[in-house]
Amino acid sequence: MEPVVPLPLDPSTLGSLTASAKDYAVLSGLAYLTDDPGDNTDLVSFAPFALLPSPVPRALFDQARAVQQDFNLLVHRVSHDRAFLTRCLSSVVKVDHFTAALFHIYEQVQEEGVTQSICLGLHRSDYLFDTNNNAVIGTKLNGVTANRELQLKQTEINTIAAAGAGFGEKIASVHKHVLSLLGITNAYKHIPENRALDSQVDGFVAAWEQYGSQKAIIVFVVEEERCRNVFGQRLSEFTVMERHPSITVRRYSLKQIAEDAELKSDKTLFIHGSEVAVVYFRTGYSPDHYPTEKEWIARLKIERSRAIKCPCISYHLAGTKKVQQELAQPGVLEKFLEDPKAVSRVRATFVGQHTLEMGLEGDRTVQMAMRCPEDYVMKPQREGGGNNIYGEDIRTVINKLKGSEERTAYIIMDLICPTVVQNYLMRPGDRPKLQGSSCELGIFGVFMADGDQVLHNKQGGHCLRTNHSSTTAEGGITVGNAVMDSPYLV
Ligand code: ADP
Ligand code: MG
Repeated sequence: MEPVVPLPLDPSTLGSLTASAKDYAVLSGLAYLTDDPGDNTDLVSFAPFALLPSPVPRALFDQARAVQQDFNLLVHRVSHDRAFLTRCLSSVVKVDHFTAALFHIYEQVQEEGVTQSICLGLHRSDYLFDTNNNAVIGTKLNGVTANRELQLKQTEINTIAAAGAGFGEKIASVHKHVLSLLGITNAYKHIPENRALDSQVDGFVAAWEQYGSQKAIIVFVVEEERCRNVFGQRLSEFTVMERHPSITVRRYSLKQIAEDAELKSDKTLFIHGSEVAVVYFRTGYSPDHYPTEKEWIARLKIERSRAIKCPCISYHLAGTKKVQQELAQPGVLEKFLEDPKAVSRVRATFVGQHTLEMGLEGDRTVQMAMRCPEDYVMKPQREGGGNNIYGEDIRTVINKLKGSEERTAYIIMDLICPTVVQNYLMRPGDRPKLQGSSCELGIFGVFMADGDQVLHNKQGGHCLRTNHSSTTAEGGITVGNAVMDSPYLV
C-alpha cells in the first residue's frame, strides 16, 4: 500500500518532524523504561512508534470492529463449556506442563464450585491485512463491500494481558500533530476516534460496581520487577482512579499475593487489610511468570476467591492456541453462536488451522507442513510473542516431534502474508529508519457477564502495531520488535 505522504521525506523536514513527534509522544504518555545496564530504574524514553500513521482499508477496519462483540460472546460461551475445553486441551495438558498447571487450577475450582459467577473480559483480537487473495473479490460482508485486494485475517484473540489500550489511544494525537506539521489538515477524517483506554476503564468500573462493596479495591497483578511497559499499565491504573476517585487501584506481584493475601472462609480476598473486588492480570500468561511454587499458590488463591477476575482461568484457557484451532474447524462455531450472521462474521476472519493430535488428521497436518513449511506458522500454547516457529524451522521441529505426543503441544496455522507499507520506525537512541513494514490491528473487546446473563458487551477501541517486514512476522511491542502506530483509514 502507499504511505500517507510520499516518502522519503527530505532530511530537514524529517529532522524537525521527528523531534516534535518524540516530544509529543512523551508528553502524551507514550513512554518506556529504557534498558539500563546498571540498576537505574528511573531512565525513561519514548515508546517505539511509527512516525506516520499507516494506511488501513476502512472496510477492513469496520469489519474488525463489527465482529468484536461476536468474539466477546464466543469467548464467554466457550469458557463456560467444560466438556469442550477439556476435550480441546486433553492432549495438550499431557505434554505441556504450563497449560497443564493452568488446567489443574481450572479443574480444582470447577470441582469446588465457582464462587464468583461474574466474569470480566478485556480481550484484544489481532488481525493482519492479508494479500493471499483467494476469496471472491468484492463480496459483501455485513453490508460492507470487502476490500478488493486485502482481507482481514485474525492471528489470534488475546484473553489475558491484552495490552496496548492506553498507547493505542494516545498515539493518534501524536499522528494528528505530525500530519498537521506536514500540512495535512483533514487528518481527523482519516484517523478514527479511539476510546480504547476509556472503554477499558469502563469495564473496570462496571466490574467494581457489580462486586458491590464501596471499600473494595482493584488489584493489578504485575511482574516483580518494574517492567518496561509500566507506563501502559499506569495509564489504565491512573485513569480508573481519576474517573472514579472512590476506587483505589493497587499493584501487587503474584509473590506478594501468595505471601500477603488472605482468603476468608466466605472466599472474600483481602490484601493488606483491603477487600479485593477485581483482579486484573498483567502477568501470569507465561511460564517465566511462575518462577517458584509461590506464584502458582497465588494464582489458585485468586481463582478460588470471590474477586472478579480479569481474566478468570476459564477465559485464559479459552484463549489458548489449541482452543482457537478447534474453533476454526467446520461446524464448531455453530455450537456457540446461534446467529448464523455472527458465525459468518467470525469465520470470515479465520485462516486454516490444523491439529497436530495423534492420529490420521494430525499425520496429515505433519505431511502438509513438511511439504511446504513456508506456508505455515507453528504455534505452541504461549503468549507474549517470540514463540512461533516459521519456515525451515518447522521442518526441523516436526522432524524431532512427529512420531511423539510432544507434537500435540503445538498447532499449525496457515501463514498470513501481510501487505507492506513504507514508514519511519522510531526507536529510542536510533535514527528514524525508513522501512517496509506490516501492521497488525488489535480490536479491544470489553465484556462482562454473570453466568449466562450478559451485562456488558462492547467493542472497545483499537491499537495498531507495526513491524519491520523483513524481520519475522512476530509483533509484540513489549518484546521490542514492533512499534506503536495508528490507522489512517483509506
Ligand atoms: P502470541 O501469543 O505470542 O502473541 P500470536 O499468535 O499473536 O502469538 O503470534 C505472534 C505474532 O506472529 C503475531 O503478532 C503475528 O505478527 C505473527 N503471526 C501469528 N499468526 C500468524 C499467521 N497465521 N501468519 C502470519 N503471521 C502470524
Ligand atoms: Mg499475539
